[in-house]
Amino acid sequence: MRKLSRQHAPSTMPDRSFDVTMYRFVLFSLLTGLAATLIRFVFTLYFGSAEVLRYGGTPVGMIVQSSLALVLWRRPQSLYVVLKIIYWYLALGISMKLTYLLFWDEQALYTNLLWMVPWMSVGFVLSFLIFSRPLATGLSVVVFGIWVTISTVFVVLNFGNPQGRAGLLMLPQAYLAQCVLIVFLVLYSKLRGLYLVSRKSVLQMEQIANTDFLLGIANRRSTQVEINVQMNQAVEMKTALSVILMDIDQFKEINDWYGHDTGDAVLVEITSLVLDVVKPPCLFGRWGGDEFLLVAPSFTALESCKLADKIRGTLAVHPFQIGQVTASFGVAEFRIGENMGTLLKRVDEALYESKKSGRNRVEIAI
Ligand code: GH3
Ligand code: MG
Repeated sequence: MRKLSRQHAPSTMPDRSFDVTMYRFVLFSLLTGLAATLIRFVFTLYFGSAEVLRYGGTPVGMIVQSSLALVLWRRPQSLYVVLKIIYWYLALGISMKLTYLLFWDEQALYTNLLWMVPWMSVGFVLSFLIFSRPLATGLSVVVFGIWVTISTVFVVLNFGNPQGRAGLLMLPQAYLAQCVLIVFLVLYSKLRGLYLVSRKSVLQMEQIANTDFLLGIANRRSTQVEINVQMNQAVEMKTALSVILMDIDQFKEINDWYGHDTGDAVLVEITSLVLDVVKPPCLFGRWGGDEFLLVAPSFTALESCKLADKIRGTLAVHPFQIGQVTASFGVAEFRIGENMGTLLKRVDEALYESKKSGRNRVEIAI
């Protein structure tokens, strides 16, 4: 019971499977960021500002961005490593810059905080993309706590002067926005975890509902759905479609002589042999008991007849543990205008004919 509940516990990890959309988005963002930084750098130099070279942030940013873009372009699989580097670059860069502005360059704080706030948000969003929820929450709270502490020290030290009072008015607004974002991200990642778990179990349930439990192939329900789909396609595309009904010969005797378990094993072995012969887009499903139905899109009656005969021959010569096992086949080609009921009735009659004519044979429906 405990094992079951643990299996169904929502994952706290983000989905780390390689995501092409995410890859393109990150590469595009890096290149756009690089172009923007380059333009800014050129204009700053052109207007004669020494600031850009004095702080060194812009050239460092350009080197980091172009290196990461290069790594990502050459090695797409390094996406999450690159994201981690961007995260730490942002977290450490912003923290250092904030400390510098607060204690050594208060005048620049007010203009710089404006562009730093969106980057702070990007850092928090990134942490929830690359780390598990508890780690991302912990890191965000720690980074946020460091900023609040540094800012509080600054405000306390400068309370007597206008910079300190301005900081007291401005910083809480920026931090409130970050705080709301962190809470939103925690809730979002929790909901996303729950969504992923329920999506997985819906897919599992769908799989169970469409699969035969013993043989692992399509069951009657999904085989019927497939016939319907292929009939519509055959009408639309004006292509051929055939169905093959296969029934194991004297299967009751196998059960009676060797037991139900051996009967089951024979069914499994037959399925595996048929699947070696039948390739997509053909679908091989269990119609019920020892009866199987093969849906063969674009196969004419004659081509299906050949396929059925190939399966028949494979089974007939296979050395089963209990000796020889054979099967009989009925083949019917879909006629435009007929419904599923008449198609299945015709193929069933063909199978009956094949049983009546001595078994281990293939008969085409009229
Ligand atoms: P025929 O050549 O006319 O088809 O003869 P048959 O003995 O095969 O007759 P029929 O197809 O009517 O019998 C099917 C038997 O398959 C009856 C049933 O007990 C058995 N059966 C149905 N499902 C299973 C299963 O999942 N496992 C096993 N072991 N037997 C099954
Ligand atoms: Mg049978």
